[in-house]
Amino acid sequence: MKLASRVAQVTPSLTLAISAKAKKMKASGLDVCSFSAGEPDFDTPDHIKAAAQKALNEGKTKYGPASGEPKLKEAIAQKLQKDNNLNYKPENVIVTNGGKHSLYNLMMALIEPGDEVIIPIPYWVSYPEMVALAGGKSVLVTTDAATGYKITPEQLQNAITPNSKLFVLNSPSNPTGMVYSPEEIKALAEVVVKNNLWVVSDEIYEKILYDGAVHLSIGAASPEAFERSIISNGFAKAYAMTGWRVGYLAAPVELIKACNTIQGHSTSNVCTFAQYGAIAALESSQDCVEKMRLAFDERRKVIIQRIQAIPKLSVTEPKGAFYVYVNIGQLGLKSTDFCNQFLDNYNVATIPGVAFGADDHIRLSYATDMTSIEKGMERLGKFVQSL
Ligand code: PLP
Repeated sequence: MKLASRVAQVTPSLTLAISAKAKKMKASGLDVCSFSAGEPDFDTPDHIKAAAQKALNEGKTKYGPASGEPKLKEAIAQKLQKDNNLNYKPENVIVTNGGKHSLYNLMMALIEPGDEVIIPIPYWVSYPEMVALAGGKSVLVTTDAATGYKITPEQLQNAITPNSKLFVLNSPSNPTGMVYSPEEIKALAEVVVKNNLWVVSDEIYEKILYDGAVHLSIGAASPEAFERSIISNGFAKAYAMTGWRVGYLAAPVELIKACNTIQGHSTSNVCTFAQYGAIAALESSQDCVEKMRLAFDERRKVIIQRIQAIPKLSVTEPKGAFYVYVNIGQLGLKSTDFCNQFLDNYNVATIPGVAFGADDHIRLSYATDMTSIEKGMERLGKFVQSL
């Protein structure tokens, strides 16, 4: 079969592949500890499920507006005002099939051949692939532990060319768990504004913060930054709603209209009754979010302590999300070899850094139970010792 050439532009998701392999091993009866999945291990809170069930019973089972239920768009606009100090109206919002789809819509609407998209390394796996699918060029900027794996304003400035169109910012970050301080965000915003760039801020982990870390949306850095900002977010991580597939993009109306046109000919509206679950998530008490955050924080402390006790591994303490990003550079193994050997010989699933653009690192997700964390870290110590 002669497939379209765009297929060759993208690599299948390594994280999904490893998670699937770990699940298969588990199903075959092996005692697998999985640190691979980027998904909360909690079930969706009951009141959110109840709202979707009620919507189902009430017949909210039909096509809706492609850009989302008006009530949800209104609730999202209010959330952006209240939580993020961003002055968006419902017409500035499109409801999408998850944060992944909101970013995909954006790339399709904004990026074309010749356009450059600046992406800091390590990056979330899908950013460069989406840019490639849109025909654009990713300009990857390496960061390291010295700056907490965060791009500096100087690095951003140096990466800019006449073809630069968009800068992708993700804080708290997947895979590092690093959080840009408000001062760092403001300094990046100045570079964005000065160079007439667009910035997309992927804020999907904004609610998962530790040790007093503060999330500032880059759009709230200044009125000028607001004009150049696009916000991507979703319900998957904060509300344990990964399978619901509800996310959103907030941006200037012209861009939202373009995404709406694309969405109108591709997915149309997000599952109607799922959107009613999302409304309940935003409009009800946020205690469930805090409960999960506290549980993640407990696990974070344990996993960090265990990794720090293993010679030859180094780790920077994450202040957000639910990932630890571990430097395995001293071991002399490529990240894929490390992860394959660890999974095959010790039944522990982790993600190779090469998926995020850094082959001397691995990522562990601690969105798993404490017993698996204890067991998995013991095996990590043994594996590293054996090398
Ligand atoms: N952005 C980042 C940084 C992520 O880690 C993820 C999921 O892993 C997403 C976006 C997409 O989330 P979803 O499509 O499940 O809403």
